[in-house]
Amino acid sequence: MARISAPQGRRLTIFLADLKVLKVMVNGRPFDLGKTADPSQLEVPGGVIEVAYEGVFQDQESNIIGEQGIVLRDIWYPVLAGRCLYTLTATLPRDYEAVSEADRIIKSQGDGTATFQFEFPHPLNDSDGLTFAASPRFQVSQASYREIEIYAYFFPEHAGLAPQYLEQARQFLEMYERLLGPYPYRRFSLVESFQPSAYSMPTYVLLGEREIGSDEYATSLLAHEILHQWFGNLVFTDFDRGNWNEGLTIYLADHLLEDHKGAGWQCRRRILSNFKSHVTARNEIPLRRFSEREDDVTRSVGYGKSAMVFHMLRRLVGEEIFFSGIREFVQTYSFRAASWDDLRKIFEKRARQDLSWFFSQWLNRVGLPEIRVDDVKVEAAGKQFRVAVTLSQPGPLYKLQVPVTFYREQVPRHFTVTLSRKKQNFPFLLASRPEELVIDENFEVFRKLSPAEDPATFKRLVARGPNLTVQPPLPADIAEDIIKAFKQRGVNLKVAKAGANGANAPHSATVLLGGDHPLIPNLLGNLEVKGRGFSAVIRKHPHAPEHLVAVFQVNGREEIEPALREMFTHRFYSDYVFQRGEPACRTLKEEERGLRVKVENDAKGFKGGPGETRP
Ligand SMILES: [Zn+2]
Repeated sequence: MARISAPQGRRLTIFLADLKVLKVMVNGRPFDLGKTADPSQLEVPGGVIEVAYEGVFQDQESNIIGEQGIVLRDIWYPVLAGRCLYTLTATLPRDYEAVSEADRIIKSQGDGTATFQFEFPHPLNDSDGLTFAASPRFQVSQASYREIEIYAYFFPEHAGLAPQYLEQARQFLEMYERLLGPYPYRRFSLVESFQPSAYSMPTYVLLGEREIGSDEYATSLLAHEILHQWFGNLVFTDFDRGNWNEGLTIYLADHLLEDHKGAGWQCRRRILSNFKSHVTARNEIPLRRFSEREDDVTRSVGYGKSAMVFHMLRRLVGEEIFFSGIREFVQTYSFRAASWDDLRKIFEKRARQDLSWFFSQWLNRVGLPEIRVDDVKVEAAGKQFRVAVTLSQPGPLYKLQVPVTFYREQVPRHFTVTLSRKKQNFPFLLASRPEELVIDENFEVFRKLSPAEDPATFKRLVARGPNLTVQPPLPADIAEDIIKAFKQRGVNLKVAKAGANGANAPHSATVLLGGDHPLIPNLLGNLEVKGRGFSAVIRKHPHAPEHLVAVFQVNGREEIEPALREMFTHRFYSDYVFQRGEPACRTLKEEERGLRVKVENDAKGFKGGPGETRP
């Protein structure tokens, strides 16, 4: 039974989806259901509305009542359009534990039943609404942080992990309170789900059992979902005017954790590489139009590019203004919907500058800039060196803050220049003669990676999809199994006939089966791909670095499935070794970090110059 109180005189819309409505009372009088044209929603006058309803929830992704437990995230009760305050009472068999949006849960037990009353004093949007998770298998453990109670609802298999998860959750709550302001609720729960999932609802996070069991992902996943308590749950996303929330969450969770380990540049390079792999002129959407992730393309735009936009904004306005601006944003839009424009206005006010060019360049346009080093000239100037660097943008024109680094004997000197023209000259005065110039060494600009910078990865290989080709000869049964295993994952390997000399035109991705394939010496030199289990090596094509060559060495058909399952989960690597289906080694062959140019020794002005001095 759902009971709705709304002001008299208002027309109300109630979403029902597949719920079976038994009876509706409006202000104590039966409401004639025969009048409703659309059975999935109800239009009623304001007042007190009571809806008696039933629902069967099974085998659906977001609404399930099964033996393992209950997860209800979609329309599972009559949802009133707009923002509402909710109270929920749930009666379940006695052995169940239950969670919903709540600052307080009051549990009472009756004859074979347990009744949960959830108190939550904040309004929820109809698009999020009330959610519910329960299971007879939950083991509940508790910790606390300040006056916030933290709970873990884990299945018995993972109950032993609860203390470390509770501690991790406590640390993230503390970290984000420092960064963003107070955690908005009194209660926080980590709830295990029998489905693969990572969802953040106000006051709780639903994590799949597979995710909880994998320590590799759990930390960044947990940080990400906890950060959504602020971005998405406390500050709502104005989906009609674009989703800023995923990019900001990636930036201050996944990216921030890697940055703390000194690997922020790798995270950003991965974003740029993935964007290049998945996004084309045909499928790209402007960031402002991103509302939800549907596939690799929307993910590359709405998560990856978006995170880079926040990174560039931080570099543009500086640390202090960036973080105080984010705090002001959270404070101003608590329990309200916010848009990109709301963010822009806060940063414009704080930075005292017009940022419309920045936001419109990155939100409204498709495509991405490309930077090229056209020329570097060094000239002695007294005891110093005058260096002239010419940069150009062969692609579409953008205004970019470009990091420029000069190296001498591994000692860097850092500068930032504003590149806004098609071709632009930048003068520098250095105390010593530079040996190498590096542009954007840490991948701080959202730009098209050069072929030399973009690592050869399994991710790139499979993103090429149907263009993959397998060159014979093949051990027939193994080849068949590999082709089948790829096909099950939506990647078609085409078998192509090729000359044995490797001189034929490179395919966008060429797959060689067998470590002794005759094309290996021509394409990959003296690379050895051996091993008793399953090995994979992905490299750039020697004659066309935009294209890839992969070698799969497989000993035994039983190795294929577990190895590919792992590879499709961990795609951003170039070298894999598996033994009896277990990953033995996974590495990424390093590539050029930034656009690197050797500064020639015989450059103009060098001869007869003064003795070199270190900066
Ligand atoms: Zn997210």
